[in-house]
Amino acid sequence: MTMTRTPSTESAPAAEPSGRPAPVIPSADEIVAALLKHNPEADAGMVRKAYEYSSAAHAGQLRLSGDPYFMHPTSVAKTLAEMGFDEHTVAAGLLHDTVEDTSASIEELDAEFGEQVADIVDGVTKISLMTFDTKEEAQAENIRKMILAMSHDIRVPIVKLADRQHNMRTLDFQKPHKQQSISRETMDIYAPLANRLGLHLIKQELEDLSFRYLKPDVYTHITQWLKDHQMVERQLISRVITQLEDIMKRNGITGRVFGRIKQTYSIYRKMQQQGTTLDEMHDIIAFRVIVNEVRDCYAVLGLVHALWKPVPGRFKDYISMPKANGYQSLHSTVIGPEGERVEIQIRTEEMNNLAEHGVASHWMYKESNHSISMQDMPQFQWLRDLLERQREEADSREFMQSLRLDLFKEEVYVFTPAGQVKQLPEGATPLDFAFLIHTDVGAHCVGAKVNGKLTPLSTPLKSGDMVEIITDKNRQPSRDWLKLVKTSKARNRIQHYLRTEERAAAIALGKEMLEKEGRRIGLNAGKAAKDGSLQLLMPEFSLNSLDELYAAVGYARLTPKRLLRRLQTLLHHKEEEEVIAPVPKETPSKRVSDGISIQGLDETLIHFARCCNPVPGDSVVGFISRGRGVIVHTATCPHVQDLEPERLISVAWDKQETKPFPARIHIVGRNEKGLLAQISGCFSDQDVNIDTVQVYSLVDGRSEMDFTVEVRDAVHLYQTIEKLRKVPHIIEVARGSADDE
Ligand code: MN
Repeated sequence: MTMTRTPSTESAPAAEPSGRPAPVIPSADEIVAALLKHNPEADAGMVRKAYEYSSAAHAGQLRLSGDPYFMHPTSVAKTLAEMGFDEHTVAAGLLHDTVEDTSASIEELDAEFGEQVADIVDGVTKISLMTFDTKEEAQAENIRKMILAMSHDIRVPIVKLADRQHNMRTLDFQKPHKQQSISRETMDIYAPLANRLGLHLIKQELEDLSFRYLKPDVYTHITQWLKDHQMVERQLISRVITQLEDIMKRNGITGRVFGRIKQTYSIYRKMQQQGTTLDEMHDIIAFRVIVNEVRDCYAVLGLVHALWKPVPGRFKDYISMPKANGYQSLHSTVIGPEGERVEIQIRTEEMNNLAEHGVASHWMYKESNHSISMQDMPQFQWLRDLLERQREEADSREFMQSLRLDLFKEEVYVFTPAGQVKQLPEGATPLDFAFLIHTDVGAHCVGAKVNGKLTPLSTPLKSGDMVEIITDKNRQPSRDWLKLVKTSKARNRIQHYLRTEERAAAIALGKEMLEKEGRRIGLNAGKAAKDGSLQLLMPEFSLNSLDELYAAVGYARLTPKRLLRRLQTLLHHKEEEEVIAPVPKETPSKRVSDGISIQGLDETLIHFARCCNPVPGDSVVGFISRGRGVIVHTATCPHVQDLEPERLISVAWDKQETKPFPARIHIVGRNEKGLLAQISGCFSDQDVNIDTVQVYSLVDGRSEMDFTVEVRDAVHLYQTIEKLRKVPHIIEVARGSADDE
């Protein structure tokens, strides 16, 4: 049995900057020796090769301390080897900064060291590129989960933690504001992550180091107090150890006894919780008894309780009820030999190993050449964690919520180009992401790049994807988008937009219809709106604004005829002589500029008639259909004559329209070899795409051809027709319509 005092403050040698040891770069031999100690079968060659590779890659680079950069990856690798991790993890530790900081690539690492090492380095690099906004608790929890969710291989967060541990040990060389932000991040993200993985020693060191930078005054106060009281504590520690060893010996139990002063940060937390000063604190010292068998644990507990009076309510049996991260031990607090409260932990060697190394202990007991996923490790089942939490959170709904979140399956975590983390439900698309960023980004979204590649907006996102949204201020949401989005936020925004647009279109339509009907009956509806007389109708029809009135007409809830007849009656009674001036019959140009531009209407409300295929530049007319929005015909379309004149409205082309329009061209020519080739050559000279062509051979040696082509506008179409007329053997060229077929 040994008598040891191991204050945890000593487990962080660099915590005392003045006593910083001279920089030493761990050698390949040291790292390999540590690796083989825990994994005798490990591939030492791989680690040596990674050592050489990293050394060459980082050659000439210096850390802020002025030390060679290579000191950092080698220190990380040494820690990982000492913790008992396998050769892939240790190699990844050596290589973890090569992709980010040197010319090495993941592909190269894959070729040199295999997929496992490359994947770990890739994961660590991704995590390093994130920027965390740790202000919100919820966000911090999200980030922890994201790191785990993204890391298909649990060795990824482990290497990242070893990396962070070494960076924290050497944080003195950073600028003060960097020290603050890195410490905050470590306290909020990485220490809880280490705890989650059961990496207790790393967790404690990360907490103590962060604490030192975040609250330097309190840190100094506590460490100074501990130094001042060291002798007193030491006497107490050795007295308790002696007594414990003595009763164990007398009862034939073998084991080891340790006494230690608690971790600085946990002392601080206890002070906070209990609202006490250091002098009033009782739980500064903790003892640990490590025995061989589980039954010895309970035997020692019985002996301790017989020797010293236990403090009621402080006994905890984590052996029969392990903690979330697999931790097992018996805890009790007793009134010690000097009337001091003394905390005692009793556990087996194996439990001790798990408590200190957590997930790492997996490698110490079981050799593995495969990537290790969470599911493969029953001792870290999330379920245990959840059951633990269920006890803490009495609310079962909250429990279900945490269960849902913890299973990760229903959420993905993606990044903005700036490295911000965004959470989305599984199956969410770049369009959901765009609306999550900002409503305007979503509304004007025209495309997305996922991990640098153009990707359809319908593609589901995966955790770890970096998403960049391409916008165009002319783009507007369309009804199809509702099928592409998964989140209610995006859906609501799109629906809201469509409703607003539809209403605007209905208002414009209603206004147009009223003016048209007014012209027919000799009443200027536009003027009536300006002079306020149209508003006289509002109370009668329970309308609150002029827009509501127009919309009621546009949505066909009220007919223009009914409204204007009523208005005529009202005005007639009101003032006989003030007759509303009739509109001059010929105002086509004015009407066009006042008219609805086609672009201004929601796409879903505009259709182009298939009988005449209007193209921009054509003189066109709109027909307000029942329930199908506006159908646009050419002014010369024979069908227009058959339509109800009061439902016709003037429409204008939007000059910015650039998409091609379909048009039909009817050609009659002589059956000569190469005629079709000449025609298509002519189309291509005119930059006209051919969509379809139908050829009919006539008995008299002629052919009729019906082309459907794509043109920019009417000028483009008629220019093409002119060129076609000059092609040899062509007899006739005309703009076609559906009636020609
Ligand atoms: Mn690093």
